[in-house]
Amino acid sequence: MRDVFLHNTLTREVEKLSPLRPGRVGYYSCGPTVYHHAHIGNLRTYVFTDTVRRVLEFAGYEVEHVMNITDVGHMTTDGDGGEDKMATAVEREHRSPAEIADHYTRLFLEDLRRLEIKTPHVLCKATDHTAEMIALTERLLARGVAYVTPSGVYFDTAAFPAYGKLARLNLEGQEAGARIEPHADKKSPCDFALWKLGQPNHVMQWDSPWGSGYPGWHIECSAMSMRYLGETFDVHSGGIDHIPVHHENEIAQSEGATGVPLARVWLHANFLNVGDTKISKSLGNFLLLTDLEKRGVSPLSFRWLCFSAKYRAPLGFTDEAIKSAQRSLNGLYDFIRYAPEEALTGDEPFVAPLREQFAEAVCNDLNLPQAIAVVQELVREANRTGQPRVLAALFDFDRVLGLRLAEVRDQVVDLPADVRALVAQREAARKGKEWAAADRLRGEIGARGYVVEDTSEGVRVKVKDALQGG
Ligand SMILES: [Zn+2]
Repeated sequence: MRDVFLHNTLTREVEKLSPLRPGRVGYYSCGPTVYHHAHIGNLRTYVFTDTVRRVLEFAGYEVEHVMNITDVGHMTTDGDGGEDKMATAVEREHRSPAEIADHYTRLFLEDLRRLEIKTPHVLCKATDHTAEMIALTERLLARGVAYVTPSGVYFDTAAFPAYGKLARLNLEGQEAGARIEPHADKKSPCDFALWKLGQPNHVMQWDSPWGSGYPGWHIECSAMSMRYLGETFDVHSGGIDHIPVHHENEIAQSEGATGVPLARVWLHANFLNVGDTKISKSLGNFLLLTDLEKRGVSPLSFRWLCFSAKYRAPLGFTDEAIKSAQRSLNGLYDFIRYAPEEALTGDEPFVAPLREQFAEAVCNDLNLPQAIAVVQELVREANRTGQPRVLAALFDFDRVLGLRLAEVRDQVVDLPADVRALVAQREAARKGKEWAAADRLRGEIGARGYVVEDTSEGVRVKVKDALQGG
């Protein structure tokens, strides 16, 4: 087991992870609201979520990963204002809330699969857990940190002195108050709905001790994390936009009911910007994974691009950046594809310190840019020295990277070892701009009955078509 260090938003410091149970990590990450497509900015957060889990597993921990699927109660403002996002989809698509949730959940899971994001061990739907949400709301009322009004049951932030500790909100004023409109029934504008009442036209309704209504958004994560991971668990993650409202409110509801910490470590991923701006529908830069594929970009190139920035920094998405990511990844694939057979056995002497550097990078607050630099150094060193036995290390690193590196190798497993070696030599010659040597090697490959093609996807080797002669 290797120590893992993570930046905890609660303390604003990088801390050594000490799980509640030795060797095991309970991990909750906020999931999608299934009312629309996930755009690549959302998907960056899920690549990050997956990296958290993979790094913990790489370090030797057994991870229990829980993610929610929001299918009710998430308002267009993230607070209590606006409309339920599910209701906007019902209006837009003239389908039932359940049909919309099923449709976009399926598309979301498809995106995860194409991005090689591991499916969480528990994927829990909000609408399957309204009983737990009602029970938690009753518990908060019994402890005097919530109150009932005609428009809903609200959390009483004044009765929870720690409110604002995650986002470091200034409750005296402005920061929180300015974001959330005052409401006649709320004692404070910071108070938020646990259960909404008095909206008979809302598309989803459940009976509750306070009348027919539907849950607020935040309460689902408190209720479901408690159900699957216990009152206190190790790691909770989301996007930085969750900090001031959603996660602050999750902490208030959970800790207000239990009196113990909700999560010990809070992790937050920064945004993806398209060009210089945040993704938004009104700006017309709302890109989906399928849009990238239509432009010839593979999903795993997007995954690789995500590794080019630390998760706490913004990631810039530009045409040039994604093309460059695709070129780098294809270069790595070609190296693996055409390395000679002996490359699979054991480690060259220069590999051990690079293995150590890789592990250190990923366990140091998920420093993926550093880890990618180690991968590139490994390939460079193998090419420079002509010592190819590095694939075992690359396949090991792929437990974190999730780039299907071993599959790439299997695709050309029928290529004879001597041809594979010639292709690798030609690649090295091309990289060194030794064009005459590269041409000579192409001829030698041709003499053995194979054709080398340099495509935008990298090098491809095919059996020579007999009809072409030569
Ligand atoms: Zn959540």
